[in-house]
Amino acid sequence: MCRDPDRCPTHPGELLREDVIPATGKPKAEIARMLGVSRQHLHDLLGERTRVSPEVAVRLAKLFGNAPLFWIRIQSAYDAWHAAREVDVSAVPTLSAAPGNSTPRTVFRSSSVEEASAGRTSMATETDIRREIIEACLELNATGLNQGTSGNISVRHEERMLITPSATPYSEMTPEMIASMDLSGDMTWSWDGPLAPSSEWRIHWLLLKTRSDMTAVVHAHPPYCTALAILRRSIPACHYMVAAFGGTSVRCAGYHTFGSAELAELAIGALEDRTACLLANHGMIAGGCGLAQAMWRAVELEAIARQYHLALQAGDPVILGDREMEETLARFAGYGVAGT
Ligand SMILES: [Zn+2]
Repeated sequence: MCRDPDRCPTHPGELLREDVIPATGKPKAEIARMLGVSRQHLHDLLGERTRVSPEVAVRLAKLFGNAPLFWIRIQSAYDAWHAAREVDVSAVPTLSAAPGNSTPRTVFRSSSVEEASAGRTSMATETDIRREIIEACLELNATGLNQGTSGNISVRHEERMLITPSATPYSEMTPEMIASMDLSGDMTWSWDGPLAPSSEWRIHWLLLKTRSDMTAVVHAHPPYCTALAILRRSIPACHYMVAAFGGTSVRCAGYHTFGSAELAELAIGALEDRTACLLANHGMIAGGCGLAQAMWRAVELEAIARQYHLALQAGDPVILGDREMEETLARFAGYGVAGT
């Protein structure tokens, strides 16, 4: 279930108090000692009476084996939520409003004093999409497709891309944390929202910008897709369901550093005339007309990858011929989420 979008984001102290520290089995005094902070400071942090400073974020990250930005972003989401409600910006002008753009797109704006004069229907639609993205993220976890915080999801909404933030656990994600990026102009590293978009935002952006058949994109590192990608194997027509991805194979894009523009170009190339691909030594991408279709394709691709992997263990898979696949592709015209 997703959270109420108006609910305050979690204070890092709550996360430490309820989940992180109990999981260590260590007393708070020992945690404070290992962090190198006073017991009083930790006490105040757990009581949500003080903020996580950059210095404490670095200490927390070292102790709990994650990134300082993780703690800073949680604190920032919490701070931004409060600031948006407490600071009166009614006298502050907006300089960059596009002509005719009277509909607030970001949660900060939609939850501010501007809400009274805004298009509520459009806002509700965007909030619904933000919720659907989080529900889909939780589904990635439930289906075993996601590993850690590696999966990310985007949806096109009007001339914007709504995309999951970087390195944020899905269970902690709230609708206002979803980043919003402009799709109307050139690709730029700028977004609305309290957290930076997923590191693979370029792949999402290019697909949602250029592919009219995709309004949603799912990227993840599911085990079987990734195993084949490590072998640098495309998935051939080992099963007729390969046609669900638009052709006689699902290609494996070449390798480049995660998050790079070069990787985005490789992915776009591998997705030509296809709705899914593997990424060498990395994972997979699936797109769809709507989030439900993109998710369905992601789940289906992992199923086929698993079947192909199992077949490879047992012998030499028989690959369907072009004529057989052409017949299947013809049948797949209009094939959607409903299944066979
Ligand atoms: Zn990835």
